[in-house]
Amino acid sequence: MRLTFPFFVVTFIVCAALSAAQVQEFRYETDIAAYEKKSVETPMPENCSMFVGSSTWRLWGDQLEKDFVQFRAVNRGFGGSTIPDILHVMHRIITPHKPARILFFCGGNDIAGGTNSETTFENFQTFLSRLWTESPHTEVFFVSVTDAPSRERFRDQTLRFNALVKELAEKTPKLRYIDTFSTLVGEDGLADEKYFLPDRLHLNRAGQEQWIPVITKALRDANARMFPVSYGAKIHPPKLPSRKITIPNVGEYMVLKGDFHMHTLFSDGTVMPQDRVRDAVDNGLDVIAITDHIESYNRRLQHRSDDKNIGYNLAKAEADKLNLILVPGGEITKSEWHLNVLFINDLNPIAAAANDWTEMIAVAVEQGGFVFWNHPNWLDTTPDRAPFGLKRGEPMRFHDEIEEVRKKGHLHGIEVFSNSACNYNPIAHDWCNEHDLVVLSNTDIHPSESERFGRQNLLRPMTLILAEERTYDSVREAFFAKRTIGWAAGIIIGRQPWVENLFRACVEIKKTETGWTLRNRSDIPCVIEADGNTSELPPQGSLEMGPVKKLTVTNWLIGTFRPLEIMMEL
Ligand SMILES: [Zn+2]
Ligand SMILES: [Zn+2]
Repeated sequence: MRLTFPFFVVTFIVCAALSAAQVQEFRYETDIAAYEKKSVETPMPENCSMFVGSSTWRLWGDQLEKDFVQFRAVNRGFGGSTIPDILHVMHRIITPHKPARILFFCGGNDIAGGTNSETTFENFQTFLSRLWTESPHTEVFFVSVTDAPSRERFRDQTLRFNALVKELAEKTPKLRYIDTFSTLVGEDGLADEKYFLPDRLHLNRAGQEQWIPVITKALRDANARMFPVSYGAKIHPPKLPSRKITIPNVGEYMVLKGDFHMHTLFSDGTVMPQDRVRDAVDNGLDVIAITDHIESYNRRLQHRSDDKNIGYNLAKAEADKLNLILVPGGEITKSEWHLNVLFINDLNPIAAAANDWTEMIAVAVEQGGFVFWNHPNWLDTTPDRAPFGLKRGEPMRFHDEIEEVRKKGHLHGIEVFSNSACNYNPIAHDWCNEHDLVVLSNTDIHPSESERFGRQNLLRPMTLILAEERTYDSVREAFFAKRTIGWAAGIIIGRQPWVENLFRACVEIKKTETGWTLRNRSDIPCVIEADGNTSELPPQGSLEMGPVKKLTVTNWLIGTFRPLEIMMEL
């Protein structure tokens, strides 16, 4: 952005005006000196949000810093200031601190004092220009000037000034416009007196409460947009030991924890591939596949390379360092359905076949790939397109075209649990049973792990793999041998015999004089129903039971609405 012309013109005008006034002390000198003193006594927090402007901030007082505490708010409102007042003192109270962001609310006093909207706008541009010369990374959030009841006659000028800033914000990356104007308007379209103090100019608490959610949302949205450029540093919370998930071996197999559907900045996710690796380790996973959309690969980062394996290579270096198994993968993204391919060795030839999704699958299978159907009840919301070739409201069925792929031996599994689109899909669960397909449970995560699930969340979806060893080859072998079980939201989703085998490995059953003792040696929760009573068998917990003949494990599912049943015998 170039502000050179207005900068010089306005600087000249402002300086000329000020040199006449310099004889007298600056009219808000007491406020400014107090702020200077304060920032020496209480140093400005890092990454702070500085509220700069007039009396609306000043009168909000300390409460303002509490209302926006999550953004490290610092109140620097003073007097009944105008923009020239701010220009006069910004080198004292603003620029030395290089705040991460500024919430700017000023201009109303300028207009009420007879400055027209164009000049007020030019002064605001001068503010930006000076600010960014001294502190180039500060983001500015312009809080729209209020239409206070006492200032009704300045309404047109106010609207004009707001509109000019809004227009500038649309083409200036570090400037955002927050519309608070409309939050104070009554049914008649005019400022509602109930939001103002008796002076009919400043906000009362009800008015402030109208603003809080709007400003909070703007700051949050801006934060979310920061993720793509901030990479790991900003989204990684302080280091805790990685989560340990205890699940005993199932016979000769160890139980590995994995997630095989994840996105990064290389398609529509918001973190780097390395962050997925670190997050997986933090969450106690053994293996992941990063499966960015193949057709739109790399579009967002605008790398000058057509290579579709860049993300994998970045993640692989990190995975090797942290001892995580990384499975190469990608998501085939057609409007009717999405399929993931895993254990492939090169995404480029698969991407090259992008005009025919069955051909993409064929290329993946040729590379030794494993193919699964993602979130089968995801709906394409394009109005003129019916999902899966079905009309809305029609019962779900295994679509003919997917069936063709399956018959060719090109479909190996279905994502029965997907956190993005449909959560648990009971119909797809039975499709796995009917067609002997592998059950998967994945996150399809796009934002950072901490943003989506919080840290080390036990309800986070994962796929358990019954593998001979903790190696890439063993994971692949287990996939093709169909030894997987989904675990998500406290529910086990899988197929026999593996679900029962897992239960027997996790839960020790002992005969007692009065019945049975169950001891859960795993971190997987069980809900047990027997003889009409339902009890919890929590992770690492135990449960005494009467002499029942059968247990129903209601949160361990082996098919559509079919919980696991355990016959009790010695
Ligand atoms: Zn998808
Ligand atoms: Zn996806």
